[in-house]
Amino acid sequence: MSNINKKIVALVTGGGSGLGLAIAVKFTKSGIDTIIVGRDAGKLQKAHSQLGEHCHPMTCDLSNLASIPAFIEKIVARFGQIDILVNNAGINMKKEFTEVTDEEFQNIITTNLCSVFAISREVVKQMLKQGNGSIINISSMAAQYGLPKVIAYSASKTAIDGMTRAMAVELSPKGIRVNAIAPGFIETDMTAKALNTDPERKQKVFGRTPMGYMGKPDDIGEAALFLASDAAKYITGVVLPVDGGNSIGF
Ligand code: NAD
Repeated sequence: MSNINKKIVALVTGGGSGLGLAIAVKFTKSGIDTIIVGRDAGKLQKAHSQLGEHCHPMTCDLSNLASIPAFIEKIVARFGQIDILVNNAGINMKKEFTEVTDEEFQNIITTNLCSVFAISREVVKQMLKQGNGSIINISSMAAQYGLPKVIAYSASKTAIDGMTRAMAVELSPKGIRVNAIAPGFIETDMTAKALNTDPERKQKVFGRTPMGYMGKPDDIGEAALFLASDAAKYITGVVLPVDGGNSIGF
């Protein structure tokens, strides 16, 4: 961020592991007070010991949509401001199309989409009072092209891209930039689960990734820090692939 001594507060959902943790690492190293949100207090505490004084762990199950307004109110009361929101928490499930139950479909939509809407709505109320803000939604390659066996996940991430654009046109005139990052295949537990049991899928991923290797969580951290910073002050409404070329691969 550009103003060295200015207090900046960020909220990173799912900040206790994987890409969220990598984003929180970049933010805290830049002096940004970073609230990491997740369900598992132990995991958040572990991240806190790694990240130090600029990290503030807070537990919340974001699939409980009704709890979100009070949760954001609590954050505003404690920190006084929210400058950056990274909607990163997400879940996936790999299953044949006809095997997916309504409940499973709904669960994924609730966590990956409805909670992103609810938390953004509440945070935007605060950002509007401040007259500034940057929101970053974490999307996926599943919104760039068709991926088999992840129907609910694909639906949720495609909706995230649309919501990013709709939020950007409505909120940018009021000082709030809204962008998304579409990670390619990045080395985390989520991708290990999806690819290690499916060599054919793994082969396909590498076959269409011009750079020929998987990304590191740090690559997403760098992109998030850039989009959150004043270096990106004229960027809004984009879905930025950070994917080694996977989305344009042949
Ligand atoms: P991960 O499983 O390591 O992290 C997801 C985090 O979200 C976890 O900390 C989890 O506790 C949290 N979370 C899930 N449901 C929650 C809930 N109801 N309330 C609060 N927290 C909750 O996975 P990851 O790979 O780091 O994925 C992070 C994001 O990046 C997800 O949105 C995922 O869809 C997206 N993504 C990841 C990849 C990849 O290659 N890893 C690729 C594309 C998109």
